Amino acid sequence: MALAVMFKTVSESCNLACDYCYYSRVKGNPGRAQEAIDPHLLERFMADYMSSYARGSASLAWQGGEPLLAGREFFERVVALEAQYAPNHTVISNGIQTNGVLINNAWAEFFRTYHFLVGVSLDGPETIHDARRVDRHGQGSFRRVMRGIDHLQRNNVDFNILTVVHPGNVDRVDALFEFYQSEGLRWVQFIPAMNFLAQNPEHPGRYEITPEDYGRFLCQTFDQWYNDGQPKMSIRFFDNVLSRYVGLEPEQCTLAEMCPPTLVIEQNGDVYPCDFYLGPQWRMGNIRDDRLATLLRSPVYRRFRQLKASLATACQSCQWRSGCQGGCPRNRGDDAGSVGGVDYFCQAYQQFFTYADNRLHRLG
Ligand code: SF4
Ligand code: SF4
Repeated sequence: MALAVMFKTVSESCNLACDYCYYSRVKGNPGRAQEAIDPHLLERFMADYMSSYARGSASLAWQGGEPLLAGREFFERVVALEAQYAPNHTVISNGIQTNGVLINNAWAEFFRTYHFLVGVSLDGPETIHDARRVDRHGQGSFRRVMRGIDHLQRNNVDFNILTVVHPGNVDRVDALFEFYQSEGLRWVQFIPAMNFLAQNPEHPGRYEITPEDYGRFLCQTFDQWYNDGQPKMSIRFFDNVLSRYVGLEPEQCTLAEMCPPTLVIEQNGDVYPCDFYLGPQWRMGNIRDDRLATLLRSPVYRRFRQLKASLATACQSCQWRSGCQGGCPRNRGDDAGSVGGVDYFCQAYQQFFTYADNRLHRLG
């Protein structure tokens, strides 16, 4: 599998202050605008990556904070460097995850021209979204996000919606789907809200919803998605589960057999093996000092790559193992007699597979 790279384009800088904000340092307040990745560092990376790892394809993801704060000039430099250093006939894929507030017509034209896949964070209709996704003055961002989405739609940009599942929407499945349908939003992914302010990469992730909540949510959303055997929209989790039923390897890391080869690069050049493992003990090095090949040989990376395969005893004999693959190592607690415990959402996965298995077989 090709090496994918995710950049923390502007580190924690953000123009919103969502209360479940990713970085614990931010504590719900946007910091001073931070410089984007240094241009020389970016060029050094691009030359190394394209010459050694772009074998027919190159996959780069741009995240933040809010990556659009880096400005269009930064991304114009990105696409110019990609074109300069990519071997002939390389298929380059750029994904960007944004809160959508800064998207205007010029951004939308840029995304369309360079075929960026845009992920927009949107938690549902206005009252649900605005309860959590606010600016530093506590004002909801819904209308600004929808204006950004309108620009994407009018410019035919490929985009999907990322909805964080939290206590405010986990039991509002009907309202979510009515909203997606009325706004023409057909590509959606869900992620359970992590309590990012209580994170330590050495301990299992803490979540705002319980496994029971998530199991119920997955079953209800599956009913909506399944639509009497005629799915009309893409829900990333179900698309991935279905891949397994038709004999393909899912692209979603939590459902794949192994954590995919990915590097997460911070704005200052520090490198980590996964977005969920950003602590100092998981720092592999820095692209300022190290070639990518050296980073990938680091003991930290080797240790990380072994985590997912260390399945709990319960997973090894579980009837849903091929669908779930033990979930994410970051969500596993300890259990005596095994290397790691089961995923925090194990019960949700069991509930979902028990509920949906027959229909998934029929679709497959
Ligand atoms: S640790 Fe979890 S989030 Fe990270 S790549 Fe592996 S499965 Fe995915
Ligand atoms: S459903 Fe639970 S026990 Fe089964 S493989 Fe997944 S995490 Fe392990």
